[in-house]
Amino acid sequence: HELKTPLQSIMGSAELLENRLVKEEDRDSFYKKIHESSAQLLTLIDDIIRLSHLDENQRFEEIKLNLKSPVTEALEALQSSADRHGIKLETNLSDTMILANFRLVYEIAYNLIDNSIRYNKEKGKTKITVKEHRGQAILQVADTGIGIPQEAQNRIFERFYRVDKSHSRKTGGTGLGLSIVKHAVQQCHGTIRLESELGKGSTFTVIFPTLPAGADDNSK
Ligand code: ADP
Repeated sequence: HELKTPLQSIMGSAELLENRLVKEEDRDSFYKKIHESSAQLLTLIDDIIRLSHLDENQRFEEIKLNLKSPVTEALEALQSSADRHGIKLETNLSDTMILANFRLVYEIAYNLIDNSIRYNKEKGKTKITVKEHRGQAILQVADTGIGIPQEAQNRIFERFYRVDKSHSRKTGGTGLGLSIVKHAVQQCHGTIRLESELGKGSTFTVIFPTLPAGADDNSK
């Protein structure tokens, strides 16, 4: 269904154009529709491929890395989107060594920060924290956004589940971001927790296993 909807929209518009059933002045909006639906389809296919890689339970190479690095990379990739949406990204990033796959941690940080921008309120903010606390490596993404109703808080990690379908589609979501996060966290042997209050905001906390004792020599 998720793949068919944009494809049907492309087919429908192309067919009308081909049969010259669209008035001259309406053509541009049809071309735009085809362009947008193709882009949506491509994003969806990319997400499905990413998710299927995670599902195959393949082993991802783990290296000793500073949790700050993939998080900083994700922040850089999303800064312009935050600016466009008028969302302030506040950071508090401490050096925190973990044993994990760089790409997976990047995916986790990217998807959580991306959501915190897309589901925020006007002039809202997101606070991104990386810290070590009681021997645990923690990544926290806390937004001042729309919040998630209690009954949906477990379901948002399911594939294609969205609290508000129209809002999510408008903001360019595929409904797969948090499934990717959930699987990536599992692959990293970590855990994820969500606290959210409707209308106030959401805080996602990911805990990564710390480095085995002795593994953090020459860590920088
Ligand atoms: P989508 O592509 O729809 O954003 P996700 O899997 O990333 O898909 O998220 C699933 C749903 O969870 C979203 O559609 C939205 O309803 C809700 N959601 C995710 N992150 C947040 C957030 N930070 N604040 C409020 N709602 C959120």
